[in-house]
Amino acid sequence: MSEKPKLAVYWGASCGGCEIALLDLHEKLLDLDAAMDFVFCPCLLDSKKKDLEAFSDGSIAVTLFNGALRTEENVEMAHLLRRKSKLLVAFGSCATGGGVPALANFTSREALLTTIYRDNPSVDNPQGIIPQYSTAVAEGMLLLTPLLARVKHLAREVAVDYFVPGCPPEPHQIWRVIETLLSGELPSAGSTIGCGELTVCDECQRTKEEKRITAFRRNYEFYPEPTVCLLEQGLLCMGIATRSGCGAPCTTANMPCTGCYGAPDGEDDQGAKMVAALGSVMDIGDTAHLSEDAIAEKVAAFLESIPDYAGQFYKYTLARSLLGGRAGR
Ligand code: SF4
Repeated sequence: MSEKPKLAVYWGASCGGCEIALLDLHEKLLDLDAAMDFVFCPCLLDSKKKDLEAFSDGSIAVTLFNGALRTEENVEMAHLLRRKSKLLVAFGSCATGGGVPALANFTSREALLTTIYRDNPSVDNPQGIIPQYSTAVAEGMLLLTPLLARVKHLAREVAVDYFVPGCPPEPHQIWRVIETLLSGELPSAGSTIGCGELTVCDECQRTKEEKRITAFRRNYEFYPEPTVCLLEQGLLCMGIATRSGCGAPCTTANMPCTGCYGAPDGEDDQGAKMVAALGSVMDIGDTAHLSEDAIAEKVAAFLESIPDYAGQFYKYTLARSLLGGRAGR
């Protein structure tokens, strides 16, 4: 075994996009290979849990852990990798804030499985079979790892040294993270790294005027003017409540920011930050002569144009939010 620092990459509940982002380092992968040894990475190497268990504690220099904790196996692997690693990095939105998997915290496990396996129009399951955690077959017992009652982000279960946001993290930021961790000049423990300290609005090149929004619109309803702030055009762009560092590729491509870099520095709750920001730019017209009930009706009508509050404001951060999602069962 070489003397290069060891690198582990693991995915919990995630889509695999973080691994693709790592591959998007392209030729820098050769530099990474020259600097570190991939010792555990189930999507690239045929490495098994027993291989990981064989490493002495703390012998892996860096583990990039992507994905939320959805199953008991995810939790077990989080503890194992924490023990084996000097530096454990929550890598990507699902690991840092729960990501899209954590939106399941708004419902119960049972309702989730029913939706996926029975009510899903694209699933052919006439007997309504739901996967079981253990099934007896002629050869023995088949076991599936149980789902947790609630999806967690990594730091809810184990100590995390650094947080790298993004769905997925941008490759140029990944490379900066690797360089930083190899430099020996480590940022303070618990830092969010591989990102900026401002908001996406600060790096977005669109012109910004005074924001007065009279109605929200959906992407498919119109073609936005390509140089003007999307929020001012009525699209729910999360840039104002999202940490910088991605380089604003979405707004450059005429798509609103969906908030994947999470809350900016100093903000605990990305959704609350966005709701507060919207409250100051929503324009429901002249209310001077209206009753409180009439004003409330106008506000309600305005909010009707947001079809999915949770998916809009907490798409990536529900597990880490003050709200946390409805209590699981
Ligand atoms: Fe750019 Fe969106 Fe901020 Fe407007 S709200 S400046 S489009 S990031």
